[in-house]
Amino acid sequence: MVKTAVEVKNLRKVYRLGQEKVVALDKVSFNINVGEICCILGTSGSGKSTLLNMLAGLEKPSRGTIKLFGKNIEKMDERQLARFRQKYLGFIFQSYNLLPALTALENVSLPLVFQGINRSLRDQKAAKILTAVGLATHTRHKPSQMSGGQQQRVGIARAFVNQPPLILADEPTGNLDSNTTREIMQLMVEMAQTHQQTLIIVTHDRDVAAYAEKIIHILDGNIENIEILSPKGEEL
Ligand code: ADP
Ligand code: MG
Repeated sequence: MVKTAVEVKNLRKVYRLGQEKVVALDKVSFNINVGEICCILGTSGSGKSTLLNMLAGLEKPSRGTIKLFGKNIEKMDERQLARFRQKYLGFIFQSYNLLPALTALENVSLPLVFQGINRSLRDQKAAKILTAVGLATHTRHKPSQMSGGQQQRVGIARAFVNQPPLILADEPTGNLDSNTTREIMQLMVEMAQTHQQTLIIVTHDRDVAAYAEKIIHILDGNIENIEILSPKGEEL
């Protein structure tokens, strides 16, 4: 049976800047299944980050509902949201967002600190996932001692180390060259598929979107269309 991970209904977000009103999103509705690889594709300013931030519970919608794994997150208060994020969500950022003073191992084990997992188990889990992303030899490197692609591998390891059911990535390959982009996309998709994790990637890059099973095309805050691709990335 197909289960629904994300259910968005009639979402609207209006920003007010003084007298100005910016409708960043309007009438946005879609579903994403558990284990699905989904891309939100659109040009700059189309509302992608706004949408992702609302899925992460970082911003409240002006109207509409967001259900993640059956739970209405727009109704949660900050404390409930914080707990929900910790348990259900992993994040991957365009600029990696690693702590510069920490090693790869320390960056990856950080989310586990908040889970109350003891030091030796944290190190063990972090080392294991760093090996899975191809960084077994770089666990003691700091971000400045790694390439962009390597830093993003650390970012991926950090997002996946808890095995959250939903991973959100905002332009994760935006700072990478095309070869590294391919490696990073393959890695994220492979990691998500291993444990049937749901992956939502925001991008403006059609080549990145080709890795998805579902592409949500967004234009000026509206869904243009939703494209379903075969698992190999060929259009049906
Ligand atoms: P994208 O990620 O697709 O480039 P965004 O979601 O960042 O687009 O922005 C969508 C629209 O909403 C843009 O017109 C942007 O200027 C506006 N916007 C985004 N965040 C804010 C904000 N905090 N205040 C006012 N306007 C905003
Ligand atoms: Mg953006």
